[in-house]
Amino acid sequence: MFELPKLDYPYDALEPHIDAHTMEIHHLKHHQGYTDKFNAVLEKYPIIGSMPLENIFQKLNDLEIAEPDRQAIRNNGGGYINHKIFWQSMAPEKQIDHELIKEIETSFGSVENFKQQFSDIAKNQFGSGWAWLVRDQNNALKIYSLLNQDSPYTLGHTPIFNLDVWEHAYYLKYQNKRPDYVEAWWNVLKFL
Ligand code: MN
Repeated sequence: MFELPKLDYPYDALEPHIDAHTMEIHHLKHHQGYTDKFNAVLEKYPIIGSMPLENIFQKLNDLEIAEPDRQAIRNNGGGYINHKIFWQSMAPEKQIDHELIKEIETSFGSVENFKQQFSDIAKNQFGSGWAWLVRDQNNALKIYSLLNQDSPYTLGHTPIFNLDVWEHAYYLKYQNKRPDYVEAWWNVLKFL
């Protein structure tokens, strides 16, 4: 059984960039929904349910389970782990990761360049999905978007942080203006 993770900050802590109402619905309704549906499918597979969370997604395509259940884990389990990473990537106060900044400068030229590329990918993701900064199998930094609730772990990559670009993440405050949400989010990403 996986539990809805508690946030390290109150729902209104990321105001004005992410509003309290969106945070509360996103956490208590959306993330709780993914959590419940993930647990429901794992009831049939107690061995998978006892695996470390990341391993479930690393091994998702090799698990010996019915295809509809694999898809349910991909969608709802993905929703579970992706939101967990998302909440942990944000904070009302910056907690700058200087090592990460050095790596970003080496890989992308500058933090500004990196932010531009990441923002473009987040803004241009068609439909529901996430923008990701990950480490690949060679420990190189990569930016990309994935559809729906797909996990970088399933590609053999390790997430560093992510940005939710599903409409539920921003629609109450930003409506169709996803670019404004993406730009505002940099203020609450804690690492940079
Ligand atoms: Mn979401």
